[in-house]
Amino acid sequence: MKIGIIGGGIAGCAAAYYLSKKTSDITIFEKDFIGAHSSGKSNGSIIPFIDYDINSYSEQLSDYALSVHNNLKMKFHSKFYYSKKPVVHLFKNNSYSKIYDNYKKNKLNKEFHFLSLGELRHIDARVSQEIDGGLYIKNSLEVDSYMLSKTFFDNAIQNGVNFVQKNINKIDADSGKQVRIFSDDESYNFDKIIISNGSWAEKFFMDFFGKSMLTPIKGQILRMKNISPGFNVSFWWGKNYITTKDKNITWLGTTHEDVGYDESITNDSKNQILQNAKEIFPFLDENFVVEQTACLRPMTKDSLPILGRLKDFENIFLCGGGSANGILFGPAMGKIISKDIFEEQLDTYINEFSVNRFL
Ligand SMILES: Cc1cc2nc3c(=O)[nH]c(=O)nc-3n(C[C@H](O)[C@H](O)[C@H](O)COP(=O)(O)OP(=O)(O)OC[C@H]3O[C@@H](n4cnc5c(N)ncnc54)[C@H](O)[C@@H]3O)c2cc1C
Repeated sequence: MKIGIIGGGIAGCAAAYYLSKKTSDITIFEKDFIGAHSSGKSNGSIIPFIDYDINSYSEQLSDYALSVHNNLKMKFHSKFYYSKKPVVHLFKNNSYSKIYDNYKKNKLNKEFHFLSLGELRHIDARVSQEIDGGLYIKNSLEVDSYMLSKTFFDNAIQNGVNFVQKNINKIDADSGKQVRIFSDDESYNFDKIIISNGSWAEKFFMDFFGKSMLTPIKGQILRMKNISPGFNVSFWWGKNYITTKDKNITWLGTTHEDVGYDESITNDSKNQILQNAKEIFPFLDENFVVEQTACLRPMTKDSLPILGRLKDFENIFLCGGGSANGILFGPAMGKIISKDIFEEQLDTYINEFSVNRFL
């Protein structure tokens, strides 16, 4: 079976890796380089689901995704780019009461517990007095998402997968059993293809359905130096976070900007990120900033991935839409889609992630 994969982010590389254990007749197409966009620049937090509506199928996928990461950590001997990193979600004026209610009801166990401001300040005395408390999540990881994507890719190449650095701009599924895909100067035939080109998959969705399925949502992150001591736990407040990584570089994020495919960094966003952070850690200022990055989340309407066969097209599979949790979900998505391609039995909850939910 000849398989083509469009996109070399975490989703495409994970799919290539899992497929390559069974067949090597696979080609990855990447327009730039492996991990060039969000998969190479993300914050790499791997946190059990917390700030979305808690429903059983997204929790099941989150649990499965965590177990896949824990296996990878062992399998790739990747202790250098995975680290155990507890997360503390901070809250103010009962702003997260709904989340806490859900957690009290469903999830509160020894791996999650509440902290008062006093307990929080014991962990880090720099937390503002304005904070009411926090939720401590022990079972979280942080990963260098570029290294993880690249490791999937390198292992897939070792297993015989081909790499073509080209932009695929058209998919023709009408020509019988095979699928033909086109770059500017060539066409390629496959038995099956996987669309895993992140935010750019929107163009193919428009071609197939005339309907939008994804929105690229830009996020910017600041890197800071000379913060001492660093942050040994990762603090979150709403969609913002701060964490110290390798070489004492502290990462501070983020923004959610609906500005199309523009991946440039901006001063306005830098100021906004700093302003948000100062409310929690008043000592932070622009003098610590040494770098700023930007990349695009492939955001779906319900912030959950799109997985499985494309409706009405037997040989086209979707593996994307990881939204703000694409690193958490990416390896599991690749594993699931590889099983789907080989027609192995999937857990029934996976059907909930089909693109059909948006049609
Ligand atoms: C600021 C920020 C922080 C984040 N932090 C986290 C986090 O802490 N935890 C988490 O779980 N998630 C996080 N995410 C989300 C996560 O990074 C993404 O959901 C995930 O990387 C998406 O992976 P992907 O492989 O689907 O897409 P991408 O990484 O975008 O990869 C798609 C690839 O396809 C290529 N491509 C596009 N079109 C074509 C084409 N036509 N032909 C060939 N190649 C093509 C692109 O060049 C790209 O390399 C964050 C995102 C942002 C923006």
